[in-house]
Amino acid sequence: MSLEIIQIGNPILRQVAREISPAEISSPPIQGLIQSMIGTMRAAPGVGLAAPQVGVSLQLIVIEDPEEFTASMLPEIKKERGRYPVKLHVLINPKLTHVSKDEIGFFEGCLSVKGYCRVMNRAKNVTVEYLDEHGEAKKMHASGWYARILQHEIDHLNGKLYVDTANAKTEIIWDEENKKKWLNASIKEIQEFVREVM
Ligand code: ZN
Repeated sequence: MSLEIIQIGNPILRQVAREISPAEISSPPIQGLIQSMIGTMRAAPGVGLAAPQVGVSLQLIVIEDPEEFTASMLPEIKKERGRYPVKLHVLINPKLTHVSKDEIGFFEGCLSVKGYCRVMNRAKNVTVEYLDEHGEAKKMHASGWYARILQHEIDHLNGKLYVDTANAKTEIIWDEENKKKWLNASIKEIQEFVREVM
């Protein structure tokens, strides 16, 4: 089942989402929401989805970055971006307990800001503590693209969107032409682009 993904301008995207109590996690409404969010993320398609994006102000995220999404990306580019496949998983009440000072700037988009991307700086490495879909406490270290996805989705739970931080001058239309153009761009090429437009 696919839910409607709400777009920027909808006030739900600006609310701080409520935590889900451990007792609530196993309830049919929460388990149903998790399944619907997985379906919605896969149909979009996207690599992550936060509950506020489907109009539900709860601290719940689903993430999946399958190998086929990067099938036409060069191995050295994947390595430089730290882009590796991430299995489907669910994060409830996630907290970033460590955020590295070193950052990488790269084009970032959002299913709630359809059709655009901007260069967004994100910490290279993060640690996140959360509950999984069974209510079990988990701690995870992530780097590269996966760390970017986590920071982006956790921002949603705090009512933040990437456009609040990323410079508007770096905005591009995320069409087929630009997707092709930037697919195998190096971080250096992104930095050159940023210098040119600023
Ligand atoms: Zn988003």
